[in-house]
Amino acid sequence: MKLLENKVALITGASRGIGEAIALKFAEHGANIAFTYLSSEEKAKALEDKLAGMGVKAKGYKSDAGDYKAAEQLAADVSKEFGTIDICVNNAGISRDNLLLRLTPEQWDEVMQANLKSIYNLTRQVIKPMMKSRAGSIINLSSIVGVKGNAGQSAYAASKAGIIGFTKSIAAEIGSRNIRCNAIAPGFVETDMTHYLKDGGAEKWFEKIPLGRFGKTEDIANAALFLASDMSQYVTGQVLSVCGGMSM
Ligand code: NAP
Repeated sequence: MKLLENKVALITGASRGIGEAIALKFAEHGANIAFTYLSSEEKAKALEDKLAGMGVKAKGYKSDAGDYKAAEQLAADVSKEFGTIDICVNNAGISRDNLLLRLTPEQWDEVMQANLKSIYNLTRQVIKPMMKSRAGSIINLSSIVGVKGNAGQSAYAASKAGIIGFTKSIAAEIGSRNIRCNAIAPGFVETDMTHYLKDGGAEKWFEKIPLGRFGKTEDIANAALFLASDMSQYVTGQVLSVCGGMSM
């Protein structure tokens, strides 16, 4: 059974990693896909072709998630091209890990801009078409680190905790319009962002994960599919931890 037939999904940062897996999962379930990237032109083109080959409409947009004007333009372009926006996944994000005494003001600002301001930028735009159609699902990528904190990740953790507060507030604001807003808090997932964890052995991390392994991008994509679809139509303002039990 296809869960997103003919829906339009806008996914930020889908040229790699979790965003790419979400785009593929949504397409498998019949959604038309608009997605963004920052610099990976070739990967974005390859994904566009792959999605089109799955029989859905697909288009990649080069758009900096941290730039308000770019988000405004993106939402307008996607609405024009695809007719509406039913689902928005705010996935684009970066990490700049450093102990606080070494963390520069520039690194702090970079993380806040890409991870937190980005969510304000695009959510403010996509609720307009969603309000018109009186339906919508917004999914924000937080992190287990935003829930628990982590030494050496204060900026990243603060941005991801901010996403949770934002998600709950927006859910309260727009629930009456039948627009839902939820967050996913992944644990450690195998992507470019976490490749450094394997240096010095992945096994020491597995001890902290009840399910004894890193997450796969598809684990997160499955959770996103649930939150995007009508399977979760009475779920809003929630943080779904997909972390192999790390949050316990
Ligand atoms: P990733 O492999 O590093 O991929 C990041 C994606 O975001 C890329 O497509 C990148 O585009 C895009 N991007 C980065 N900055 C952007 C910007 N300013 N504007 C537009 N696109 C931008 O990351 P990931 O591991 O898949 O993580 C995806 C999300 O999940 C992030 O929000 C991350 O914080 C969160 N998360 C990840 C983990 C994990 O263990 N991996 C755990 C918890 C939460 P380019 O390819 O063009 O650079």
